[in-house]
Amino acid sequence: MVHMSAPVTVIRNCAWAIVRADGEATHSYRQDIDVAFSEEGFLHVGPAYGGQAETEIDGRQVMAMPGLVNIHCHSGDEPIAKGLFEDVGTAALWGNALYEYSALVDSDADAKAACQIVMLADLMRSGVTTHLDIAGVHPHWLPLAAQSGMRAWLAPGFREAAWRMEGSHRLDFTWDKVRGRERYQQALAFVDEARAHPSGRIDGVIAPSQIETCSEELLREAAAEARSRGYRITIHGAQTMAEHEELLRRSGETAPQMMERLGLLGPDLIIGHCIFLDHHSWTRQRTRDDLGRLARSGATVAHCPVTFARSGMTLQTLGGYRRAGVNVGLGTDSYPFNMLEEMREALICSRVTAGSVFDIDTGTLFDIATTGGARALGRDDIGRITVGAKADLVLVDLSVPTMQPVYDPLRNLIHCAADRAVRDVFVDGRAIVRDGKVMTLDVEGAIRQLQDAQKRACRAAEQADPQRRSLKRLAPLSLPLCSP
Ligand SMILES: [Zn+2]
Repeated sequence: MVHMSAPVTVIRNCAWAIVRADGEATHSYRQDIDVAFSEEGFLHVGPAYGGQAETEIDGRQVMAMPGLVNIHCHSGDEPIAKGLFEDVGTAALWGNALYEYSALVDSDADAKAACQIVMLADLMRSGVTTHLDIAGVHPHWLPLAAQSGMRAWLAPGFREAAWRMEGSHRLDFTWDKVRGRERYQQALAFVDEARAHPSGRIDGVIAPSQIETCSEELLREAAAEARSRGYRITIHGAQTMAEHEELLRRSGETAPQMMERLGLLGPDLIIGHCIFLDHHSWTRQRTRDDLGRLARSGATVAHCPVTFARSGMTLQTLGGYRRAGVNVGLGTDSYPFNMLEEMREALICSRVTAGSVFDIDTGTLFDIATTGGARALGRDDIGRITVGAKADLVLVDLSVPTMQPVYDPLRNLIHCAADRAVRDVFVDGRAIVRDGKVMTLDVEGAIRQLQDAQKRACRAAEQADPQRRSLKRLAPLSLPLCSP
């Protein structure tokens, strides 16, 4: 067999690098090393690379770090919901805006591609190289994920019940099991298509959308099907107090208890967002078993602090989950799709909720956003820089003002600079972001389409609202609009 060796890129004299070799319990810093890679993976991580290289990058003002792993985001409608509902919520449902407001907004078929491109671009520019996207199947979804050059786990959501709110005080459910089954079958076909993609960077995930919108029968069946075919499973669970109270009403269980009874829990399960467990002060439970239950099962919590913190809620606490032995990964869920800002907020929310700077440190948080997510996906060859791992990496520009002065570059990146310091992003050794610019997608074109797409979605939201409120009443502007 003739083996054509792939072109090699080497970063010479990399000022800082974040490395994690096999068997090491944490990432660690290295200084002044060469990092060489090709589409086949990292070839050399250490002093003085002596092999041939087609491309040389001067690393003297650079930190090389592994690409971030985002295990929970939604490309379908979140990008056009921006600016609408940040200041509203349903008081009777603990202030959450999800059921009465957010659920009214959906992108139409013409807007799906633009929404996806905008999300992918924001993720890439904030250092994400792997993402798990939960959305509805549409014709552009798989081709655009492939075109982006990112690593993608595509999770077509399905459910048998839709949320319904006639007034502003009670969440009800409209069940349509026939339609739910159709969507489930469509999802099963789609994940096989995703897995068969020739890029080798794409896979599917079995995604019953929410624990309270699928029958127990479908949840059991979907989990068994996923396991027989070797797919990961993802579901929303313990994400709101309304859901928590609904499960208590139906079966007397918390979400992890119900998942355990139905056989869902396991190392292949990723649960977004797992906030309202029996230890959370809002749930007023008399047990303290849920974290242990999750830890024993090996299931992963997909933690997405920003969108919840905007509504005044957060899990208690991120450090506490880790200490209990729960695997945690990070996601962005909704806009701004900025993984580095998400990391900053994860750390701040955790410390505020704990009332302690000691609840979680920056290194642990970085582990969550890289290898924590990789473990959730069953992969030990992404989320870290070491010889043999996939060449998914980010070059952080140490010379930008927000990164100066450099004592500890990871702290500067997370606590100050965020995406402003992300220069280049590589997946499988190929640059998908260069000098902060996305190389693989028409981002400007997508952004031009978003304004009209949002106007259409707003008109549809007024039509869909059972109370027939105008947009002005559903989503009041943050300041009064005065005549010129
Ligand atoms: Zn979500």
